[in-house]
Amino acid sequence: MNNRYDVFNKLCLRQVSLSEHSSYGIGGDADYYAMPETVEQLLTILDVCRTYGMEFFVFGMGTNVLFPEQPKRGTLYVSLKNFADFRINGTKWFVSSGMPLSMLSLAGLTSGTSQFQFTYLLPGCLGAGIYMNAKYLDDQMGSKIETVHYVDLSDPTLSLQTIRAEDCQFSYKHSIFQHKPWIIIGAEIPISEYDEPIQGGMSEIIRKYKLLNGKLSSLSMFYRFFTYEIQELQNKQFAIPAPMRNIDRYRTGNRHFEYRSCGSFFKNNYNAGASIGALVDKLNLKGTSRGGAVISPYHGNMILNLNRATASDILYLKDTVSEAIHRHYGFIPEPEVVIVQ
Ligand SMILES: Cc1cc2nc3c(=O)[nH]c(=O)nc-3n(C[C@H](O)[C@H](O)[C@H](O)COP(=O)(O)OP(=O)(O)OC[C@H]3O[C@@H](n4cnc5c(N)ncnc54)[C@H](O)[C@@H]3O)c2cc1C
Repeated sequence: MNNRYDVFNKLCLRQVSLSEHSSYGIGGDADYYAMPETVEQLLTILDVCRTYGMEFFVFGMGTNVLFPEQPKRGTLYVSLKNFADFRINGTKWFVSSGMPLSMLSLAGLTSGTSQFQFTYLLPGCLGAGIYMNAKYLDDQMGSKIETVHYVDLSDPTLSLQTIRAEDCQFSYKHSIFQHKPWIIIGAEIPISEYDEPIQGGMSEIIRKYKLLNGKLSSLSMFYRFFTYEIQELQNKQFAIPAPMRNIDRYRTGNRHFEYRSCGSFFKNNYNAGASIGALVDKLNLKGTSRGGAVISPYHGNMILNLNRATASDILYLKDTVSEAIHRHYGFIPEPEVVIVQ
């Protein structure tokens, strides 16, 4: 048998519950599921899918996707969350797309740069952080990177391409990647302030992350992992900066890691003069429930899986919010969570 089919068959697991790979904890059994660890493995998967005409869906940690109860038959779901390389080259980092965003804040701490503090406890991986232009307060991923490497699926040879950040059309929760058949492989990140990184510091943390084999789609495990690792760094004399302590306070205060969710369900529409969360609050929709799902009592723009919610429970509440906002404020809010069919 041809080697690439061997590799493909080895990587492709059968009947895997997508609920274990999404922070919503929702999703039925996928016929096929894979977690490639290298670009070569990813390219082999894409190539074999193309040869067989097999459909696939590529994602990261699953903290911004709602999977269906009945995934499409014969589709391969590919999570890149084990594709987590981190290389330091002078004043540049190369980071692969499966690296947790939060890891960048720890790497910043050990390298003496503050530019990634905002990613502390921000769920998800770098690839989707670029795809979504993930942000916290005034900081966003698009303004931190220099170049992005990607595979263009419309290219028959699946060759690797590079695009500069200024050509990525970054704006609020938007990038060019949302409109192209491109899979992000990784990015070069220039580091402004810089100390000699401590030897072995990050590689040991990344090694421990990989040993978890994709378990950090669970928000409680995600929180435990990163707060433990930052405590360890503190024990090694790295003071935790105030902005990172504030992030922990803000996110735990809003119960981000206590309940299953995908964070904010809708993108804000600032033309409306208030955030979606504030509008939901004004409309008295907080606490509205359906089946096992509820509109968070703590943050109006979050729909929580409180107790074995189904995808249709979540979608029902999404429609409830959309319709009420349309009726009272005249626009239909755009979901930020990617609803996988
Ligand atoms: C509790 C909580 C709090 C959150 N807070 C914030 C916040 O403050 N700010 C913020 O911006 N977001 C926030 N989010 C949303 C989420 O953290 C980000 O959107 C993150 O970037 C998603 O990463 P992921 O790897 O989980 O993406 P996934 O959910 O796995 O994927 C999201 C989308 O990206 C696409 N994608 C993933 N990887 C690639 C790739 N390599 N190439 C091409 N496309 C890709 C997928 O196809 C999918 O369409 C929060 C989520 C949670 C659960």
